[in-house]
Amino acid sequence: MLESTLTDLECTRCGKLYDTEQIQTHCPCGGPLYPRYDLEAAASAWNQGKGLAGRPQGFWRYADLLPVRDPENRLNLGEGGTPLLRAQRTAERVGVSRLLVKDEGLNPTGSFKARGLCAAVSKAKELGVTELAIPTAGNAGGAMAAYAARGGMSATVYMPSDTCVEFIDECRGLGAEVILVEGLITDAGAAMVKDGKERDFFTIATLKEPYRVEGKKTLGLELAEQLDWQLPDAIIYPTGGGTGLLGMWKAFAELEAMGCIGSHRPRMISVQTEGCAPIVRAFHAGEEYAEMWDNAETLASGLRVPAAFADREILMVLRESDGDAIAVSDAELLEATYQVGADEGIYTAPESGATIAAVRKLVEEGRLDPSGTIVSFFTGSAYKYVSGMKQGVV
Ligand SMILES: *Cc1c(COP(=O)(O)O)cnc(C)c1O
Repeated sequence: MLESTLTDLECTRCGKLYDTEQIQTHCPCGGPLYPRYDLEAAASAWNQGKGLAGRPQGFWRYADLLPVRDPENRLNLGEGGTPLLRAQRTAERVGVSRLLVKDEGLNPTGSFKARGLCAAVSKAKELGVTELAIPTAGNAGGAMAAYAARGGMSATVYMPSDTCVEFIDECRGLGAEVILVEGLITDAGAAMVKDGKERDFFTIATLKEPYRVEGKKTLGLELAEQLDWQLPDAIIYPTGGGTGLLGMWKAFAELEAMGCIGSHRPRMISVQTEGCAPIVRAFHAGEEYAEMWDNAETLASGLRVPAAFADREILMVLRESDGDAIAVSDAELLEATYQVGADEGIYTAPESGATIAAVRKLVEEGRLDPSGTIVSFFTGSAYKYVSGMKQGVV
């Protein structure tokens, strides 16, 4: 049985350490808390990757680098272990030689949110939590509802009232209480905080809770393993709250410390939409933090995040990796989404289409080397966007 090598929680901004046996949120200084591990112990078990051979497939294959100690608390709905697919027709269409897509739509509840919520809900269960709440633009709510149900816990989901019906029905179908809030995910979050003063639930908002990022870290572990420990030249990531981007970056640091990879890092490239691009704007303005985006609007609901709690950390990763940030329009991302479906047989979420529209633009503008290996994250399936995508078709 794989043992978690979790040792501490550390504030990413001030370095203060926190106890992992207590329920934690974030540091009073405003920094997210990152779990730390005994990487020496993990390194000897991994043996530069060769030690993974006999392990079960999927998410919990990496249990020694995940925070949940008791295997009984490792909730499992078949998350992770998603395919990394060559997308040759799409590559030719956008003018690059080697494009791989990580198809996260195959996760439970149809998006990569399953990874973050699997880790966070499992750890909350381990710490004795029985009631959970989350603010969501859509997919995170469904994923939390699923894992809460799996763990025998209650779930309350706060969503913008104009969220597409499929997301709302999914949460209800998974036993969650859904509270619809006028406005955006940030307003949903504010309503949750207000209700939380009277209700005894634990809230799992992006990076205000320490373990969602750990689940997303498995994106990076899995990608590295699938590429035989040779990281790609660029990673194209549709960015909302940024957990996936930060999780992957953390994965690469841990893998290097464990001797599985060297110091080469992919260029990390954030994609947002023209209707909500706070990170893109801050990146190009050279800002340390991203200002809130007014009147955010896009049918790619996972990208309708006007303010990211970990904006500073996201911007740091983009800069450290010599990365980039780019916005595409809803018309561009929708066209790319349908084109990918026809070219590759992947019925993928509009956020995924956004990454393809972005690659095309970056290559056209000379901002991305078309001869390298490019990995694009297809973060969800299209099934929950049917009514939204219909409205978007003009
Ligand atoms: C949440 C979400 C995103 C954005 O992910 P972050 O980790 O919050 O940046 C992208 N695509 C889909 C489908 C999502 O649900």
